[in-house]
Amino acid sequence: MSKARIQCTDRVVGAILASWRYDISGISPEMRKDYEGHFAACAHCRARQKFHRSLDVTLAVFTSLSALFFFFALAVLKHIHPLEHVAFKILGLDIFDVYHMLVSAGIAGLCFSLAAMALVLMATPAPSTLGGIAAEGARHIEERLPAAIKALRPR
Ligand SMILES: [Zn+2]
Repeated sequence: MSKARIQCTDRVVGAILASWRYDISGISPEMRKDYEGHFAACAHCRARQKFHRSLDVTLAVFTSLSALFFFFALAVLKHIHPLEHVAFKILGLDIFDVYHMLVSAGIAGLCFSLAAMALVLMATPAPSTLGGIAAEGARHIEERLPAAIKALRPR
């Protein structure tokens, strides 16, 4: 604990922003100005805002990857199905029960992931943050386009 923590310059505003998870995208533009001013002046809240926005994006990516994982697991299980009776004969296991247990778990996992993803996208400004990142990326690519290609593009 050698590094001193940066303190908020206005604890009242800081507390309000904290209760909003430092997301001011939902409030009216004239109200937003004051809070934007605070973000400009306060390194503490700026750092917190950055942290929360990256957390939103991480959650959105994590839940969508999780949904994708369960989707693929179900796809794989669908492929295994024809082999079921073969495995039953060779291994002497009650594959049928195991198979249906896995399918149920896969469906439950997929539903849970999709619900979690929907919650993240509704409760956090992750979609706009991701949109901003995408726009930034597109701008970056456009800047790097050779002049010859740029000249061909209609204005
Ligand atoms: Zn602050």
